[in-house]
Amino acid sequence: MVHVTQRIDLPAASLGTARHLLVHRFGTPGARPKAYLHAGLHAAELPGIVVLEHLLDRLAEADAAGQVTGEIVVVPFANPIGLAQQVLMEAQGRYDLDTNRNYNRGFPDLVEGVLERVAGRLGQDAAANVAAVRTAMAQALEARNDTREPEVLKATLLGLSLDADIVLDLHSAWEALLHLLVSDNNWPDAQDLARQIGAEVVLVDRGNRMVTFKSAHVLVWKAVARAHPDLPVPPGAMAAVVELRGQRDVDDHLTRPDADALFHFLQRRGVVAGHPGALPPERCRARSSKGLWRMFGETFGILVYHRELGDRVAEGETFCHIVDPQTRRRTPVVAPVDGLLYARRSHRFTRQGQYFCAIAGDLFHESGS
Ligand SMILES: [Zn+2]
Repeated sequence: MVHVTQRIDLPAASLGTARHLLVHRFGTPGARPKAYLHAGLHAAELPGIVVLEHLLDRLAEADAAGQVTGEIVVVPFANPIGLAQQVLMEAQGRYDLDTNRNYNRGFPDLVEGVLERVAGRLGQDAAANVAAVRTAMAQALEARNDTREPEVLKATLLGLSLDADIVLDLHSAWEALLHLLVSDNNWPDAQDLARQIGAEVVLVDRGNRMVTFKSAHVLVWKAVARAHPDLPVPPGAMAAVVELRGQRDVDDHLTRPDADALFHFLQRRGVVAGHPGALPPERCRARSSKGLWRMFGETFGILVYHRELGDRVAEGETFCHIVDPQTRRRTPVVAPVDGLLYARRSHRFTRQGQYFCAIAGDLFHESGS
C-alpha cells in the first residue's frame, strides 16, 4: 500500500468551530511491526511537528519503493485544539483553557477494563497474550463514551496507537537537551532509540498514574504482567517520549537529522527495509526519574544563571541567582544534587513557587530503581 491520508473529525466544542486530525498511513494495515508516531500533543512544542514533516518525505519515498515492511501511522500534529489557544501572542498549548487540564494527562485509563477482559484468557504463548491484551485494549476503549473534544482527541490518539509495537510521543521543553522518557518495562529495550536519536539524558520512570499518553500504554502492560506472574506477558508496546530540545529548536539543521535518526530507528526495528548503518554510541547512562529535581522559585525575581544548559552542577553549588531589583537582594539557587542542568523555562522571571528549571540527578537506573 502506498501512503494514504485519513481525516478524523473531532466533535465541535463551540459554535462555528470544526477541527480534525490528519493521519498518515504507510505500509500494509496489520503488518508487523507497527510503529505509531505523533507530535505536538502539547501544541506549542513545535520541533516534533517539523521532524515528522521531514520523516513523512522519507517514509513516502520508502513506501513508494515497497520498503515499508511493517505498518506506520503518523499524526504530525496531534493537538489542533491547543494551538488555537492563543493568548496575547502566546500559544497556551499545554493546558486546556476550559478545564485547566494538561493535554498530556487524563488519557483513557484502560487498566481495569483490560484486566477484566483478559481474566482466564491468557496462556503460555507470549505472542497470543500480546494479541489478547491488544484486543482487550481496543474493546475497553470502545466501551467508553467520550464526548468532549479534548477527550475524544485523547481517545482517538490512543485508539490509533494501542496495537502498535513502537509508540513515539514527540515533545519539547522550553529549552532543553534532547532527552528521552521511558518506563522501566521498556528499558533497556529502548536503548537503541536513545542511541540512535543521540539522547543526552534518559529518564526511566514507572509510568504515571495521572495517565500520560505514554503511561496509557505502559500501565496496561505492567498491570497485566503483574496480575499474571506465571504467564509470559511481554510489553506489547515500546512507548517513549522523545523531548526534542527546546520549543524554538525547529530549524532544519536540527530537525532533519532527527528525522533521519527516527527513520534509521524504524529500519533497525524492521518496520522499514534497508540498513540503518552503525548504531551511534551511547551519550549518557540512563537515570532514574526519582533523581529528577524540578526547581521552584523560593522567591520571585529575575533568574540569572551561572551555568548553561547541559552543564554539570554539583550538590551545594550556587548555579543561579534570583535577583529582586526592589530589595537589591540576590537569592542563591543551590543545586540539591550532583547532576546535569538539562531543562529550563525560557522566561527568565520567576514568581514565588513557579517551576523554572530541572536537574537530572546522578541517580542511575541500574542502581536507583
Ligand atoms: Zn510536552
